[in-house]
Order: sequence, then C-alpha cells, then structure tokens
Amino acid sequence: MHRDRFYAAVDLGATNVRVSYGNAEGLREKITERTDRESGPEGVADQILQMLELLDARFSAIGVGSIGPIYLETGTIINTPNLPFERIPVVEPLSEAYKVPVGMLNDCSAAVLGEQVFGAGKGLKNLAYVTLSTGLGGGAIVDGNLLVGKDGNAVEVGHLTIDPNSRLICGCGCRGHWEAYCSGSHIPKYARLLIEELELDDSHLMSTSGGDRENITTEGIYKAAGEGDPTAQEIVRRIGTVNAIGIADMVNVFDPELVTIGGSIALNNPELTLDPIVENIDDHLINRRPEIMITPLGADTVLHGALVLAIRTARKAD
Ligand SMILES: [Zn+2]
Repeated sequence: MHRDRFYAAVDLGATNVRVSYGNAEGLREKITERTDRESGPEGVADQILQMLELLDARFSAIGVGSIGPIYLETGTIINTPNLPFERIPVVEPLSEAYKVPVGMLNDCSAAVLGEQVFGAGKGLKNLAYVTLSTGLGGGAIVDGNLLVGKDGNAVEVGHLTIDPNSRLICGCGCRGHWEAYCSGSHIPKYARLLIEELELDDSHLMSTSGGDRENITTEGIYKAAGEGDPTAQEIVRRIGTVNAIGIADMVNVFDPELVTIGGSIALNNPELTLDPIVENIDDHLINRRPEIMITPLGADTVLHGALVLAIRTARKAD
C-alpha cells in the first residue's frame, strides 16, 4: 500500500450519495448530497462524478458501496425497489471518466469490510453486519472471506422469512420478510398491525401524528418510546424481538465472533435497538453467542468499506 496515494470512496444510497477519499490511515473530507432521482439512470453516476470533482485529491482507484440488488459482472444496479430506474450503470461511467480501476460492492458487504479494517472487527476473521435503516440488509465475513455471491448480493438478510403467514408484505412482494417488520419504511405498518391486534392504546402516538394513525412514523414511535409511552415501548420491544430472530438466523448461518449494527434507526436509538435484541437472541441461537454492538463507525461504515475496496482494487490492478 502506498502512503502517498489516495483512493476515492462512494456510498451510493437511495436517499443520499456520500463521497470521500483517503488511504490506509482512514477517510478525509466527506461530502453528502441527496440522491438525484430526477435525471434518469445515467444521472446517478453523473452526480457521483460531480461530487468526486469537489474532492481535493487525485485517486488511484474508486470503491463504491451501493444499494442493491447489484449485478457485478456489468457493474450496475438492477431493478432496485428504492430508485425509479431499471438499470443504473455505475462502474463503467466512473472508470471511463477517471481512467482508474473501479470496484463495486453491495453496501452492506462494503460495510462489513469497513468494520473489519477500520471498526470493531479489527483482527477478526468472522463477523457480520446489519443495517437497520430505510431498508434492512446485511454483510458477512466468514473465515476471513467477504461473502459476495454470484451477482454481488450475498447476505440479503432483509428478505429472510420471519413468518410465512404474516399479514405484512415486504417491498419485494413476499410475505413476512424481516424487512417487512423492521425497516424504517415498514415499521409504521407493523406498528398499526400491533395496535389493532393487541388493542393497544395509541392515544399518545395519535396525538403526535395529527390524529391520523396513517401518519405515525418510525421516528415518532422511537421518540414516544424514549418518552415512556407504553404502547410505543411495546412496539419497539416487538420490533427488537423480530430483530433478535433475524440476527440469530445470521449467527446460526455464519457463526461470527462479532455482529455490529448500523443504519439510522440503530444509530439514532442505540439502547432501544440493542436491548431487546440482546434480551431475546438466546431463545433463537444454536451457535455460541457472539458480541453484539452498535457500529463504532456510525454513519460512515459503508464509506470505510468503499475505501478498503478502492485500496484493494488498486492493489489488484498494480
Ligand atoms: Zn422481501
């Protein structure tokens, strides 16, 4: 690794695009913008290029951690439910513009790599990562190997089935997936179902959402739980119980020493997220329980992974 060389890191999300650059010592300047959803599929790479121009550095390689599903062979995003485009080219426009090697990973695969090199997973060969955000995803390193899969979409744990008879339909169209309970975009629906089925008193949640149950938000539920509203606390406890099942499934499959949790829901509500997972996970484990914590890299886990990817991509090309 050359200490005088820099590498660009891109975190391409449905809501935000973030770019940075750095080297083996870590990330430097970071820039965040709302993801351009208006300029067509090519607009996504154009936006990344414009943001990279703003960085005060030259790069030997670029690493991208992207929303999925991705198709590694062509370096594209395919049929993502989170952006209104069928096929989004990523690798080709970046490598054409910069004439440097470009690496791409699913964002959660990038995140677990970032965790291993810069975060809580330093020195570990077996670790897993989960993001609890607008969507829900995961990444895993097993025996030192980052799990990537044939197209780049290994460890899509948000689409593990929790209950095939569930009344909740996932964004992918299937019934009872983990994401249908616990992602930011689905929590309000799960909350309304719980309020109905358990006949919970939602007067406090209603008062904070303009008197309309349809307007209850994920943020509002966690805020109310933090303020002591028993209904919101029950909802948060149930979300945590489902998270415990999902993470236990990951532990039983990958046998990690460490599981870190990131994503805005976890980062904004660390205790409310972690406590019910830690309390309930043993009920679902066959494998020895690993350490479970909120990622110390905060919102920069994917960016750190993209940096590691860029450094490794450059090394391979040398
Ligand atoms: Zn699904």
